[in-house]
Amino acid sequence: MQGQMMKTPLLITEIMRFAGRQYGDTEVVSVTGENPLHRCVYKDVIRRAHQVANVLHTLGLEKGDRVATLAWNDFRHLELYYGVSCAGYVLHTVNPRLFFEQLLYIFNHAEDRVLFFDPVFLPLVEKLSDQLPKVEAYVILSSEDKMPQTPLPSIKCYETLLHEASEDYEWPALAEDTASALCYTSGTTGHPKGVLYDHRSTVLHAYGSCHRNAMGLGRRDTVLPVVPMFHANAWGTPYSAFISGAKMVLPGPKMGDGKTLQALIEGEGVTVALGVPTVWLALLSYLEETGTTVSSLERTVVGGAACPLSVMKEFQDKHGVYTHHGWGMTEMSPLGSLNTLSKPMESFKDSELDVIRAKQGQAPFGVEMKIVDDDGQELPWDGEAFGDLKVRGWWVCDSYFRSEGSDDAFDADGWFSTGDVATIDPEGNLGITDRTKDVIKSGGEWISSIELENLAVSHPDVLEAAVIGVSHQKWGERPLLVIVPNEGDIPDKMTILGLFKGKVADFWIPDDLVFVDEIPHTATGKVSKIELREQFVDYRLDLPQK
Ligand code: ADP
Repeated sequence: MQGQMMKTPLLITEIMRFAGRQYGDTEVVSVTGENPLHRCVYKDVIRRAHQVANVLHTLGLEKGDRVATLAWNDFRHLELYYGVSCAGYVLHTVNPRLFFEQLLYIFNHAEDRVLFFDPVFLPLVEKLSDQLPKVEAYVILSSEDKMPQTPLPSIKCYETLLHEASEDYEWPALAEDTASALCYTSGTTGHPKGVLYDHRSTVLHAYGSCHRNAMGLGRRDTVLPVVPMFHANAWGTPYSAFISGAKMVLPGPKMGDGKTLQALIEGEGVTVALGVPTVWLALLSYLEETGTTVSSLERTVVGGAACPLSVMKEFQDKHGVYTHHGWGMTEMSPLGSLNTLSKPMESFKDSELDVIRAKQGQAPFGVEMKIVDDDGQELPWDGEAFGDLKVRGWWVCDSYFRSEGSDDAFDADGWFSTGDVATIDPEGNLGITDRTKDVIKSGGEWISSIELENLAVSHPDVLEAAVIGVSHQKWGERPLLVIVPNEGDIPDKMTILGLFKGKVADFWIPDDLVFVDEIPHTATGKVSKIELREQFVDYRLDLPQK
């Protein structure tokens, strides 16, 4: 028997309509290259999204065509998020930090027909354009008077196009599984892979991430996504803010700038900020140096890479800001888990809470997870057993764009292999220990580099730490600790290595540590263990062998 309820499709268009009706006067504050503090409201964004749709129609686009962006977080990018997807085209957000060859591959693989980009990326686009045969129009996200000079053919000015376009547009009635957006993962091996989101997955993800056990956005919040709209949808905030009526503060090109972030938080009354650990390190060190505050900030959501406990503690102890540790992936829209505390946990001792808070938290309703051994057998949720982490759910992708089903990350029974190694405790809290390819195996036993890195950065003289496996005659591999010290302070080797004693199994303790000026990072800001391993491929451990 069929239910007799309305089958209203889950469309991003509905998010936009709802936000316009309900929260039309809610502010969107943006930093742009032209304006340090641009202000508009949801209604403006929606009105201009109608114009974006008309512009794309006039350019001759067909439903399903890809429209690329190379842009920071600001109101214009937000207009494109809605205008492109709701009109039935696919918003392809491109990460400008990728290597040139990867960018070429991505644009050509996606066959983007139009590219919208911030003026700051003009030199990059000029270099790429010769080799982008499918791109028919280039649109600079600028006003007419600020348009830069360029020899690029088919160049257009965004504000001029919008000015000429009608504000009336009839949004099409799309099926809820219509593709809405495309984002490529950086692909540390092989080519980047495209994740093709649809309207349904996007609405469910936005809905799920507003849950109180997840990011819990509400109308009293002002949200600052310091996570780029060009990678993993700025963790869904363009949609979840519109659902919840939260004021948005978009930092434009000033993502990693502690001074701008502090000014935005304090000036705009930001209550929730989202970012990767390095962003918060920059903000915390700015606050420390200047003695300034972030008095409105209630909580941060940290993910993308493991968040050291020391960052959480500094936020809490010095600034009264609570940190939620989360985990996710481009393939998961990206929310996979988030750490929130239960009532009984509030009375736990600090040391017990530390253990829980360093974990990546629970999967929200909508995501299922499991860990398996090398034979694919499910492992217990005892917080001890490590295994390959698999997930499935409403906002997890089921294949890569144009991969012709050739990827073995997707099981026949509908699970996606995340490429992460993790534990899950009896309360369902995820503990990411490594990426599969970064795992260190010593004498056949796994060692968690993330846990070691967290301990290393708890030392005040350590700015950044990474642990990699280097080859060892007897044990196959042993851990080597690589450290970037804080300026002017070279910490004592033995004191650092002493940090691990009693906190982890003895055989986990790195055999040696080296100081470097810089640790290599990927385009998405993660430590590039591949490069680091290459850098230390000939490293021979000089301490007595274990
Ligand atoms: P890319 O692979 O292109 O860098 P993603 O942003 O999709 O892009 O990366 C997802 C990966 O980031 C996860 O598989 C995991 O390895 C890592 N990650 C994300 N959040 C965390 C976290 N809180 N702790 C540890 N690792 C994390």
